[in-house]
Amino acid sequence: MKTIPHTQIAETAVTCSTCAACCCQLEVMLITDTGVPERFIDTDDWGGEVMLRLDDGWCAALDRNSMMCTIYEKRPLICREFEMGAPECIDERQGITTAYR
Ligand code: SF4
Ligand code: SF4
Repeated sequence: MKTIPHTQIAETAVTCSTCAACCCQLEVMLITDTGVPERFIDTDDWGGEVMLRLDDGWCAALDRNSMMCTIYEKRPLICREFEMGAPECIDERQGITTAYR
């Protein structure tokens, strides 16, 4: 039997630097005080504090040009624990592939 040569195509590495901040469209509850500025805080239907999201769906603290967090040092605990490359991250990336830069 003839063996057909093939080339293994490397999977695209998962990295925030090539991602359109997909996870920054999720609702982020503020469960600890990390110093998020008031102007970025909203109240949900149950009275809990969440990160404000703008009409385009992204977090108000996201810089739309760089797609980087403008309050990185003060970002909420949930954002700190959202792990790059984790199943949740992969899910979010697959959800809005058209937004990749
Ligand atoms: S954690 Fe994942 S989904 Fe969030 S910006 Fe980084 S690569 Fe994108
Ligand atoms: S606070 Fe920063 S890391 Fe968290 S959702 Fe907003 S922009 Fe993303």
